[in-house]
Amino acid sequence: MSQTTSGKIIIITAPSGAGKTSITRYLLKSFDALAFSVSAATRSARGLEKHGTDYYFIDVEDFQQKIRNNDFVEWEMVYEGKYYGTLKEELSRIWTNNQVPVLDIDVKGAIHVQQQFPKSTLSIFIEPPSVDELSRRLKGRGTETDESLQARVNKAAYEISFKHHFDVIIVNDNLEKACKEADEVVRKFLF
Ligand code: ADP
Ligand code: 5GP
Repeated sequence: MSQTTSGKIIIITAPSGAGKTSITRYLLKSFDALAFSVSAATRSARGLEKHGTDYYFIDVEDFQQKIRNNDFVEWEMVYEGKYYGTLKEELSRIWTNNQVPVLDIDVKGAIHVQQQFPKSTLSIFIEPPSVDELSRRLKGRGTETDESLQARVNKAAYEISFKHHFDVIIVNDNLEKACKEADEVVRKFLF
């Protein structure tokens, strides 16, 4: 394993709609050393999402079996009835490939991963300019039902209250600027 990648983890966390996916995609394009950590989730695929690329879409029974088997580094019921989790096997797969996993996970999951790998984790919190703007972006993305949009907006202020647990806070007002800031901190962490 090279010095650049050995056992490192990058976490991108934020309320849903803050821009995690956009910033994560930018980082994955910019650094060959990074690989997206595909989480297991019990929600259904939306839009063009693919099993094995965006998530491992599994059913609740399968997810609960994996909890009992101790297969997860962390897992959370992020929204009512919807489980999400990072599989140990997924991190091993990426490390074996001499790459650094990028985890796009919620704030609680992020804190659990930091606690388990305190010396080798870079955690970045993406902060939206405001909850109203977050709501506008989620509506604009056009992926949510009224109910799932409301659940995301309702949770946002609570999630923002955790921001000081993380190594770096980036306010995503301007996406290009936020991507550049993320690029700088990731470069310092890797090299
Ligand atoms: P998340 O992964 O955190 O849910 P996304 O990256 O999907 O967030 O961003 C939510 C929506 O907001 C997307 O439609 C995205 O194109 C848009 N978006 C992201 N960053 C900005 C920004 N700085 N200004 C305006 N719209 C943005
Ligand atoms: P979405 O349904 O919008 O893809 O994701 C909802 C939320 O679940 C986001 O905040 C996302 O970061 C989080 N999430 C995705 N995968 C995981 C995971 O493996 N563990 C945890 N704890 N949260 C996750």
